[in-house]
Amino acid sequence: MSLYGYAGKILRVNLTEEKFFVEPLDQGVLTRFIGGAGLGAKYLYQDHPANLPWSDPNNEIIFANGPFSNTALGGSGTISVTAKGPMTNLAGSSQGNGYMGAFLKSCEYDGLIFKGKASRWSYLHISRNGVELKDASHLVGKDVMETQERIQAELGKGRVSVYCVGPAAEKGVRFSVIVGDGSHTVSKNGLGAVLASKNLKAIAVSKGDFKTPIYDQELLKKISKGLYQKAIEYLDGSRHKWGTAGSLGNLHKVGAMPVRNYTTNLFPEHEKMTGQYVRTHFEKIKRLPCHACAIQHNLLMKVTEGPYAGFVGEEPELEAMTGLGSQLGISDAGAVFVLFDLVDRLGMDVNETGWTVGWVMECYQKGLLTKKDTDGLEMVWGNVEAAKGLIQKIAKREGIGNLLAEGVKRASETLGGEAVHMTVCTKKGTTPRGHDHRARWSEHLDTCFSNTSSLEATFATARPGALGLPPASSPYSPWEVPAVNAMINGWHIIEDSLGACRFNITDPHLVVDALHAVTNGDLSIADLVRKGKQIVNILRVFNFKNGLTRDMDAPSTRYGSAPVDGPAKGISLSQNWDVIREIYYRNMGWDPATGKPTPDTLRELDLADLIPDLESIRSVKP
Ligand code: SF4
Repeated sequence: MSLYGYAGKILRVNLTEEKFFVEPLDQGVLTRFIGGAGLGAKYLYQDHPANLPWSDPNNEIIFANGPFSNTALGGSGTISVTAKGPMTNLAGSSQGNGYMGAFLKSCEYDGLIFKGKASRWSYLHISRNGVELKDASHLVGKDVMETQERIQAELGKGRVSVYCVGPAAEKGVRFSVIVGDGSHTVSKNGLGAVLASKNLKAIAVSKGDFKTPIYDQELLKKISKGLYQKAIEYLDGSRHKWGTAGSLGNLHKVGAMPVRNYTTNLFPEHEKMTGQYVRTHFEKIKRLPCHACAIQHNLLMKVTEGPYAGFVGEEPELEAMTGLGSQLGISDAGAVFVLFDLVDRLGMDVNETGWTVGWVMECYQKGLLTKKDTDGLEMVWGNVEAAKGLIQKIAKREGIGNLLAEGVKRASETLGGEAVHMTVCTKKGTTPRGHDHRARWSEHLDTCFSNTSSLEATFATARPGALGLPPASSPYSPWEVPAVNAMINGWHIIEDSLGACRFNITDPHLVVDALHAVTNGDLSIADLVRKGKQIVNILRVFNFKNGLTRDMDAPSTRYGSAPVDGPAKGISLSQNWDVIREIYYRNMGWDPATGKPTPDTLRELDLADLIPDLESIRSVKP
């Protein structure tokens, strides 16, 4: 019998023993976990003993696609990656777009699970002809673009998707990423460092000939057109026309643009950094596509003005324009192209890099760090060349870079004193997306409470209105914002389980229809939100087993502070934090005293088997 939407198997790779095992996936598992982030949570929970260090060879890293992978649906090349990560020592779940998810399905796999550590630097090649662990010693030290190009050249004819790590991961930089199909990035919780800890430089998947079994091909075609139309019209068509940086002006208008490490919200220079400015002044070379995507939101461009004129690179996403721009006091979009390219090639998370370099700049202005500490780099706001130098030092763990490679939270704790209170991060150790979340409470709360190390409940598409729920009456309500976040929590992680780019699945009703057309399932939005809540609660229990405490569900001093100017001036999140946390916990069915899911919640979600695990944790203090 055909498993509509799936190949029905997962490949286990034991790197220590250089052995491969094919494990069947039955309908029950796939219906329960969907794919992607859901399957990642299942295997992470099932296979991972509590308190295993992130760098232990037995720490599995799971790559999974979903039922939409390799179909006609837009952006159906997305891959989800899950592992215990070094930034939080808790679960990490992050997505990369491009082709990997589709090509893996075309080789008849729903996922890959890596365990162990290769005896030398290696890369894995998967094709319809088999699986092979190949020597990668010649790729050590190569940046992510060169690594991709070399592997593609080595593997010869046919299309190949390559995801790899860069020099930063090789040196154990905690916030290393996995980059593939150009500069698509699996960015959160240092999953690149996990891959590198296994001596795995890259994964290459050749396009195969297995076709995803579809229950109703004609219906899917029709829905696919509808989803495409919704996606292209989303935000008035801004994503296709102007890229993600098309939202920069609005971000500034509402006070959500991060400026100089949250010391101000004012950045009038932002107008020359918007997608609208860049796309009408810089030279467009070509669009950069992903599998079956017509939005093609990103461009390869040439900088045409300023000191970096002539530089050719991928257009920075919104979060790079802010994280490597306004956050560092840099207002030249051309300079951000250069920094973005550097960070990408080295294989580091743009967000964490921005929060770390911006924190160093503030420490430097305040005399907490001097030129002696920075090996001569003049870390004043807006100094592009100094930022470049510091980023290179981080990737090599050279001088102060060795401290900063730990991420801003750990670096500040080593420096101590006032510097600790200047970090923009959560108490779990993650940093937010490139926004000033003090003017965007729904994402702020989500970043702090998340069990995935990234946004868990909220994203542009996980809007209460789209899910048929009422929005909060005020974006700063300490009662309504946490309650609404808890209500919608579940949908977003389902998006990350389907195997398609979020930008392409903006209408939940059509997503439900598409899932029916692919799998013959009959699930409503509410059913999927419930499934999402199951996945979230599995990760929540995993995190408690691995050291999560209630106190870690909170922002750092600066992250929770009141903006000193701008539209959200004086509105303090921290002052309301106890109320916010209690309301969120109660609405999620978590014990307000501990943050743990209650036994009733787990039973209601058919997760009663997790209750003994949770009850056996004695170290959690209220
Ligand atoms: S919208 Fe952008 S990231 Fe998503 S699939 Fe299309 S090109 Fe890729």
